[in-house]
Amino acid sequence: MPQLRRDPVIGRWVIVSTERAKRPNDFARPKEEPPDDRCPFCEGRESETPAEIFALREGEPTPNSPGWQVRVVPSIAPVLKIGTYINRYGRGLYDAMSGLGAHEIIIESPQHIPNMADLSTEQIEKALSATKERIVDLDNDPLFKYTLYFKNYGKAAGASSIRHSHSQLIALPVNPKRVKEELRGAKRYFDYKERCIFCDIISQETGTKERIVFESDNFLAFCPFASRFPFETWILPKKHSADFDKIEESIIIDLARALKATLMKLKRVLNDPPYNYILHTAPYRTPKRGHWRTIDEDFHWHFEIMPRLSGVAGFEWGSGFYINSIPPEEAAKYLRKTKVQL
Ligand SMILES: [Zn+2]
Ligand SMILES: [Zn+2]
Repeated sequence: MPQLRRDPVIGRWVIVSTERAKRPNDFARPKEEPPDDRCPFCEGRESETPAEIFALREGEPTPNSPGWQVRVVPSIAPVLKIGTYINRYGRGLYDAMSGLGAHEIIIESPQHIPNMADLSTEQIEKALSATKERIVDLDNDPLFKYTLYFKNYGKAAGASSIRHSHSQLIALPVNPKRVKEELRGAKRYFDYKERCIFCDIISQETGTKERIVFESDNFLAFCPFASRFPFETWILPKKHSADFDKIEESIIIDLARALKATLMKLKRVLNDPPYNYILHTAPYRTPKRGHWRTIDEDFHWHFEIMPRLSGVAGFEWGSGFYINSIPPEEAAKYLRKTKVQL
C-alpha cells in the first residue's frame, strides 16, 4: 500500500510509493515506448489492459471487446490503491495515512490518435461525458474527498510511454492543496462581495476582450491575467456552477468545442507542444465535514491548460513565484487570431 505523508510545515500531502520503490538506475534510463502498432489502448487489444470499469458502447454491450467509443480502465501502475479502510497515524510529529484512492485511465478514442486536439468534437464530447460519469460514481465511495481529472500529453508533460490519447482520474482521501488554496481565495472574495470571483473574472474578460482565446455559447477560454506559464489558458463555463459533474449533458458538446479549439490553437501556434490540463471542481461534500455553506455559490469549476514550454527552475521552486516570458495579452492575441476548423 502506498503512503500519504503530510509535510508538517505547510501541510502539503505527498504520495510515497513503497512497494514500487525504484532504484537510482530506473530514473536514469529513458523508458521504452511500445511501437504504435502494438498499442494496448487501441481497439482490438482490450485484453492487454486490466478489465474495464466503464465504457461507452452502442448496441449490445460486451465488456472488454471491440465496439467501444470511450473506455475506462484501472491504471496498471496506480499511485493510490482501492481499499476499504484508511489507517491514519502519527510518527512523532509526522502524520501519515494509508495511500487509499482510485487511479483510472480514460482511453479517449478507439483509434490510435495521440493528441486530443485531433479527435473530433463529438469524440471529445464522449470522453468528457465518460469522465463526468466516473467522477459521479467515485463520489459514492465515502472515503474519497476529491477526484482530480488531468491529462499529460508528451514526454515533457509527464506522459507515460503510451502515446494513444488518454487522460487520468485520481480519487483522493484528502483535498489537494492547490484546490484548497483556490477554494479559500474564492470564499474570501465571496465573504466580502457576495459574488463569485470567477463570474466577475468572466464579466471583466468578456468586457476587455484582450485575453480571450475562444468564446462559445456556454464557455469562455482565456489567458489568465496572472498566467504562470506562457500560453496558459483557462476554460470556464459562463453560467455559474461549482461542480463539473453537474454539467448538463446538452452543453458537454459546447465544452468539447471550446477544449478542441483551444488545444488545436496551441498545437498550431506552438508546433504540437507537450501540455497538461487539469480540472478544478468543488470537492465531494455530502455528508463530509468541514465544508462551508456557500461553496455552491463561491466556487466555479474550470479547466487549466498549460503547455510545457519551459521547466520549473530554481527560482520557482524556491519562491513559489513563476516567471512568465510572454504577457498573457500577447499569448491570447496569437491564439485568438489562429483560425481552426472545428
Ligand atoms: Zn493506440
Ligand atoms: Zn461563478
